[in-house]
Amino acid sequence: MDEMTAKQRMSELRQLLEQYNEQYYMQENPTVSDYEYDMLMRELETLEQQFPQYATGDSPTKHVGGTASRTFEKVPHAVQMMSLQDVFSYEEMDAFVRRCQEQLQEPEFIVEPKIDGLSVSLEYVNGVLTRGSTRGDGFVGEDVTANLRTISNIPQQLTNAPAFLEVRGEVYMSRKSFAALVEQQELNGETPAKNPRNAASGSLRQKNAAVTASRSLDIWIFNIQQVEGITLRSHLESLEYLESLGFPTVIPHSGKCHTAEEIRDRIAAIGEERGGYAYDTDGVVVKVDSFAQREEMGATSKVPKWAAAFKFPPEEKETTLCDILLSVGRTGVITPVAIFDPVQLAGTEVARATLHNQDFITERDIRLGDTIVVRKAGEIIPEVLRVAAHAADSSPYVLPETCPVCDTPAVRDADEAALRCPNPDCPAQLMKRMIHFVSKDAMNIDGLGPQNLAALQEEGLVRSVADLYHLTQADLTGLERFAEKSADNMVRAIDASRENSLDRLIFALGIRGIGSRAAKLLCERFSTMDALLAATAEEIQEIDGFGATMAESVVTALAEPHMRQLIDHLREAGCNMTYHGTTVEDTRFVGMTFVLTGTLSTMKRSEAKELILRYGGKVSGSVSKKTSFVVAGEAAGSKLDKANELGIPVLSEEEFRNKIQERIDINEN
Ligand code: NAD
Repeated sequence: MDEMTAKQRMSELRQLLEQYNEQYYMQENPTVSDYEYDMLMRELETLEQQFPQYATGDSPTKHVGGTASRTFEKVPHAVQMMSLQDVFSYEEMDAFVRRCQEQLQEPEFIVEPKIDGLSVSLEYVNGVLTRGSTRGDGFVGEDVTANLRTISNIPQQLTNAPAFLEVRGEVYMSRKSFAALVEQQELNGETPAKNPRNAASGSLRQKNAAVTASRSLDIWIFNIQQVEGITLRSHLESLEYLESLGFPTVIPHSGKCHTAEEIRDRIAAIGEERGGYAYDTDGVVVKVDSFAQREEMGATSKVPKWAAAFKFPPEEKETTLCDILLSVGRTGVITPVAIFDPVQLAGTEVARATLHNQDFITERDIRLGDTIVVRKAGEIIPEVLRVAAHAADSSPYVLPETCPVCDTPAVRDADEAALRCPNPDCPAQLMKRMIHFVSKDAMNIDGLGPQNLAALQEEGLVRSVADLYHLTQADLTGLERFAEKSADNMVRAIDASRENSLDRLIFALGIRGIGSRAAKLLCERFSTMDALLAATAEEIQEIDGFGATMAESVVTALAEPHMRQLIDHLREAGCNMTYHGTTVEDTRFVGMTFVLTGTLSTMKRSEAKELILRYGGKVSGSVSKKTSFVVAGEAAGSKLDKANELGIPVLSEEEFRNKIQERIDINEN
């Protein structure tokens, strides 16, 4: 590289890295992977060595990435909170070990997992936690004492403590807590956190400590920054001391190491195990154990020279893109899915990955037959990173203009990247909706798997999920798949699902962003379908856990003519439209059949019906000897006459209300 190009590139890299620092540390919203960031940092370091005349004193290679924001009080760190030098291969780690061995007398090393969270300092005066702060720029951090106090494994009070102690640790969010947080954020219609590290940082740096408290953070202590009245000689000794004081400490990986080979083995072992840890690790830290030897090694302005962090590279594999399948979702979104020759990634075989939309394909110029590079994002979801080589005679891939299943011209909403099939009767959408409708957390209709549903659809027996409720035993035995007994069981299972609580039905409708928990929350506020249908976005937004986007999504979905029609059909098919969740199990009306006639003045007929169903009763449209009660409103006609003729008890609206009231009173006792 010539001098001018190098100068320009260095300036570009400095700007880029500062921008990424801002996004990562201050906004908790990285736009590139840690690996990409590390590679750019490495490029800048190399150029600064080759062209020192263009290196600047304020380069990101020379200072810690964060700063203390104005949201919090500033805390000066008496002992600088440094970063770590990174290495990306065993050879680089060997070189670090060699440097230490050349300068020191038989150094011993400690190898620890590098937990991916954010660094904090905790200060204890006479054993009492007095202050906690973030790293900031390493010299000045942010006072987050109140927030740190909410982390349950941080001791507030130490026994047998020294007069003054400052420790350093890593605050992190376990993978389990992260998954719960993302679910909650999706429920709220918020942008979900990108990874546990950013989630931990965002959760700790909150103005309201109650928010931090709700996020289940943990801490690991890995260093003593300052201590009065006790002399410690090594890292291992200090960890043991910290443990005796009651701190959760980083567990060194099986004692001391003496050679580069031993260190390689420990790194490899952590590499194997880390997939099973409860938290994310982004590497392994290797540290000189003796404090006296650490002094000898010294530090740069940013990192100690006695430690190095081995960073695990994201595992990538090359493979061939065999096909692009088009999957039509429940809401009509057409998603292209890459089908490639199977590869092993992070311990599992992977053969498909979403290509998201046309923009994603175009940006990477992904073509059929290409050699592609795949990896697992965040070690979980497979993704296509880039094209390594185009296939011979290939041409750019363009999504079709019509739905691959029903041929309806596809649409692309102005503000969305996704292509959508707008036909609500599209068989692919219906199929996905039915699979969702009968699933365990929705209407829980056992035995109606995708193959049975496909057979019903092919025979034209179901054109809407409501049609499931009109299936007869004869319909089913007409299909090859069902013997008489299984057809009978199926009809019973479908029938039983009519009585499900309203929250299951709401979830089963498949409203965008409404999971089973959100459906329950909706029903706790609006306990009947009619109440929910009448609710405004503002009212829905008042529910704790609902944001504006979610509330809008509910109102828009329920206002759709197709959705209205479906709800009407489900209601006509006898599906329960009330929430069972908050009432004590009340079976007073079980075994009773009611007939409603005439106009009720204090409630809608649908409400009366829902109340009867809620207490286990049935509602019929005609009076027979099997009718238990006829509820007669104003201008009741022939049904009332029939009831009188057959001697069936008739209830006025008031008497019916009293019956309901009676039950509520019993429930409340
Ligand atoms: P670092 O994360 O590489 O290492 C230092 C940190 O490791 C310490 O602050 C400490 O808190 C932590 N740590 C965890 N376990 C430890 C242990 N057992 N012993 C000692 N320390 C331990 O360095 P950094 O300065 O905190 O952050 C820089 C890194 O952050 C980059 O390498 C990159 O991976 C990431 N980053 C990413 C972006 C992005 O845009 N993706 C931007 C900025 C930084």
